[in-house]
Amino acid sequence: MIGSREPGRLERDQFDLVVIGGGILGAFIAWDATARGLRTALMERDDFSAGTSSASGRVLHGGLRALQHLDVSAAAESLREREIIAHLAPGLSRPLPFLFPAAAGITDQVVLRTAAAVWNSFARSALGASGSGAQFAGSRHDLDPAFSNWAPHGGLVVHDRQLISAERLVLAVLAAAVDGGAVVVNRVECQEILSSNGRVEGVQALDRESGNLFQVSAPWVLNAAGPWAVDLWPAESSARPPVSFARGIHLVADLRVPQIALGLTWTEQSVSGRVPRSRRVFVMPWAGSALIGASFEPGGLVPSGPIEPSADEILRFVTEMSRRWPGLELSMDRVRYAVAGLYPIFGRGPSNPGTFSVARRPLICDHRERGGPDGLITGISVKLTTARAVAERMVDRVAARFDRSLAPCSTATADPLPFALPSPVPSLGFGPLENPAEAARLAAAAADREQARTLADVFLRRSTIGQHGLPARDVLDGAGMALAAALEWSVERREIEIRRFEEFYDRLGLSRRVSGAPPGASD
Ligand SMILES: Cc1cc2nc3c(=O)[nH]c(=O)nc-3n(C[C@H](O)[C@H](O)[C@H](O)COP(=O)(O)OP(=O)(O)OC[C@H]3O[C@@H](n4cnc5c(N)ncnc54)[C@H](O)[C@@H]3O)c2cc1C
Repeated sequence: MIGSREPGRLERDQFDLVVIGGGILGAFIAWDATARGLRTALMERDDFSAGTSSASGRVLHGGLRALQHLDVSAAAESLREREIIAHLAPGLSRPLPFLFPAAAGITDQVVLRTAAAVWNSFARSALGASGSGAQFAGSRHDLDPAFSNWAPHGGLVVHDRQLISAERLVLAVLAAAVDGGAVVVNRVECQEILSSNGRVEGVQALDRESGNLFQVSAPWVLNAAGPWAVDLWPAESSARPPVSFARGIHLVADLRVPQIALGLTWTEQSVSGRVPRSRRVFVMPWAGSALIGASFEPGGLVPSGPIEPSADEILRFVTEMSRRWPGLELSMDRVRYAVAGLYPIFGRGPSNPGTFSVARRPLICDHRERGGPDGLITGISVKLTTARAVAERMVDRVAARFDRSLAPCSTATADPLPFALPSPVPSLGFGPLENPAEAARLAAAAADREQARTLADVFLRRSTIGQHGLPARDVLDGAGMALAAALEWSVERREIEIRRFEEFYDRLGLSRRVSGAPPGASD
């Protein structure tokens, strides 16, 4: 368990290393560093996993896409890391087949048949007998009738994994770090990285709850602030930060979809209008709903706080999907939730926007090697699946120069993580919830054990209840009362917090439809 929120410890305790950012990368760094014997602090400006880590498509990628780009080592890493996460958090992921429909004509058939053969031989050599898993179906009749309509010319079926809750994975990894001695606090922002004579000395931090400004001292700072890592880039470092980002949104919709992830593909003009670009959107079954994404909009600016999709953006994506795939029957009144994130694009800038592609490899910058301060390492990860390996490489850099020898990395071979489930009742917290007493129980535990401070923390990141739509008012009241008791809120404050959570759904343009209710019903 992460335990209660104690920002004072960040100021008082002695640390070897400070981690900035409580997404999946920061969480794995904190666990890895602690397990190697480093006194570690982690600060998260908002809530754990409130950044990109809660905006992902929840696919634990086996690396097929990397192999398509002939990046064999990236594909092997993805495959290996997928299996490690499946082992570390067995209750949080499940096997899921992915169907990539073939286009009419012989070319696509040959390409996909070859892809199946190459993938199988690659996966077998990487994972042994259990590694195979792609089949090519030459016609719709070779596919399960439940989804053959989506692939009239057959297609490629690849077996990968789906994360049920990326947010709970982050919490479970953080809990392992705390278990090893790390101090982990949300709602604390790093405002500046402090250095003197070319050496890192710690960070200037702001407790966003109390308004206190204080310093955290440590000779090492690992910046894992996702897209916001750029804001903390030292001016003197000659390394170039990523110059642009692309925005992607995912929708959760009340649709019955087959128990297979459909990879719907089409070609469209790139931004420059010169090169046709292949687009793919996945429609995936997820906790009784459909998860659809991602949209893709280049030129995403990094906002100063959390990233929210706009109502226009959601409408544009719904309109595009229903125009291209009318059989999906997607419409705004079926959309229960939406979330946005930023993909980094390294190396190419807005001057040539039509040519970018989303980064496939992470960026790790040891600023000392680029004219910046000694002791600062920035990591920008490109996949949730491989974040553990990125964390390992970053902590390896610390270990190589630390003034005593450290234990080797053990996160790849650790026992499965406890604390992965939201509550002692395994099913509670992963789907819609209608029982106010259960909501109160969940909120009390989330506040007490996992630093939940708002209804959004409870319903979107300690559980996935709110990702199925706005919970009913009595469920909000149940959770609101439990949070009020734990956090000493007044009655007025409780009302404000409930209203604030409801307004979040209003801003997304989602009518106040309670989770579990059929389309058209509203409270
Ligand atoms: C649309 C989309 C779909 C994706 N789908 C997949 C997928 O299916 N599978 C997959 O493997 N990967 C996927 N990814 C990639 C994956 O989500 C990211 O690589 C990963 O979540 C990045 O995690 P992170 O911890 O580096 O960053 P983040 O999750 O963004 O965490 C950074 C944290 O730092 C905090 N922070 C920022 N500034 C400060 C500060 N000054 N002080 C303290 N804290 C700060 C933020 O609040 C945030 O919580 C997807 C990405 C996008 C955008």
